[in-house]
Amino acid sequence: MRIFVGGLIHETNAFSPVPTYLADYADHCVSYEDLYAAAVATGCEVVRGLCARAAPSAPTLRADYETLRDRLVADITAMGPFDCVLLSLHGAQVAEGYPDCEGDIVSAVRASCSESVTIGVLLDLHAAISKRLLEKADLVCVIKEYPHTDFPQTSAQLVDLSLRHHAGDISPVTAFVPVPVYSLWHTPQQPSKSVVDAARRLEDESEVLHISLVHGFPWSDVADAGAAVLVTTDGDRERALRYARELARSLWDIRDADLGHYQTIDASFDVNFNEFSGPLVIADAGDNPGAGTGSDATWILHEVVARGLADVAMALFCDPQALAQVVAAGVGSTLKLALGGYTNALAGKPFVGDFLVESINNSAKIDAMPGYDPLEVGTMAAISYQGVRIVLGNYREQVFGPRVFREVGIEPTAQSILVVKSAQHFYNAFATFAGKIVYCDTPCSRTVDFASLPFRNRRSPIWPLDDCSVNDIPSPVLFGG
Ligand SMILES: [Zn+2]
Repeated sequence: MRIFVGGLIHETNAFSPVPTYLADYADHCVSYEDLYAAAVATGCEVVRGLCARAAPSAPTLRADYETLRDRLVADITAMGPFDCVLLSLHGAQVAEGYPDCEGDIVSAVRASCSESVTIGVLLDLHAAISKRLLEKADLVCVIKEYPHTDFPQTSAQLVDLSLRHHAGDISPVTAFVPVPVYSLWHTPQQPSKSVVDAARRLEDESEVLHISLVHGFPWSDVADAGAAVLVTTDGDRERALRYARELARSLWDIRDADLGHYQTIDASFDVNFNEFSGPLVIADAGDNPGAGTGSDATWILHEVVARGLADVAMALFCDPQALAQVVAAGVGSTLKLALGGYTNALAGKPFVGDFLVESINNSAKIDAMPGYDPLEVGTMAAISYQGVRIVLGNYREQVFGPRVFREVGIEPTAQSILVVKSAQHFYNAFATFAGKIVYCDTPCSRTVDFASLPFRNRRSPIWPLDDCSVNDIPSPVLFGG
């Protein structure tokens, strides 16, 4: 058996101030590597094809996207024939003129292969699932955990199912239900955890091949954006339909479970420090660069200073111009900076003040997702303003773990308040020592105040933007078999 592994990965935020060009795509992606490793583990001959990933940002330019898609197809043609083509895609990729990149990519791959080739697709759960994708792929497996800890496990499932499909041992049918909800779920926490656990039990104990609980990515602003459920069985249509209906209802029932935890900036500080020990961790979720924002928003910084708070540390501000000034000034000096607030109006006003340069690290590394090597991020600095310490860099990445503070001499466990530009991937690492965790909905390009965003392409009805009830969940549609 010959297996091809390829990847073209981008989470697109239509409201992002950060443009996306061909040069922004690098040849490394953890989901691709997990899929490749799972394929190699089968002992089959595995061929590496294109791997191209850009950090979350605005839609890719049309010509750049077409170049990458065509390179992927050219690799398959040049290195084939293959029995299985396995693709690591994101699910929420948008390019100019292409609202459904994944459907387009898989269509192009299908057109280049014979019908006997099995196409298996691995997706992030922040995906928009299109009927076109499900028509063209034989198997689609979406991860279940947020933070995304299960790429290795889901990759192994996809590889196993794809090989069995190609061997003719299984005949997958997939029931698909788009759930009319814009939301997100923190899967280590209840009640989301119980829905994920129920899906895993069905996979383990029942005759279900795979279940995908898709959170969706509203900020991609495409018609297919929103939650969804996929249930794949071995030819058992009734079972697939039944479980898809039940799980769609489960997602509907918990639609407000985690969105309801988001606080305003003001309310994020409305806590009683006597009720817990350990730092208050505030997630600046609206400015999560992991969802395409600029990582330069100043809303919380302005609030912290206005409240006169000290023993506060914040990470990670991406402001290359400010960093260059800090490096030129050197450790121990004080300089006036206009920090952040430069990508667009949603990032707030620059914070202007006299900052002390506490430390500079020219070869800094920060945590990646748990289980993956740290990221090399070049130069980072710690600067402070009246007891508020800020980690400054020129690398746009969300906070996954506490190393971002320690690399510049800040001990996170010793702070009263930590502010992290991250929506949920920080959670597992910080929950081990945080006294309390608060999700703050800053009004940036990843806000969960969906009514404030200028959607142009979304479908309707969708909760919470429209008058919408459980009766608006459509009947499942079957693919395959
Ligand atoms: Zn994701």
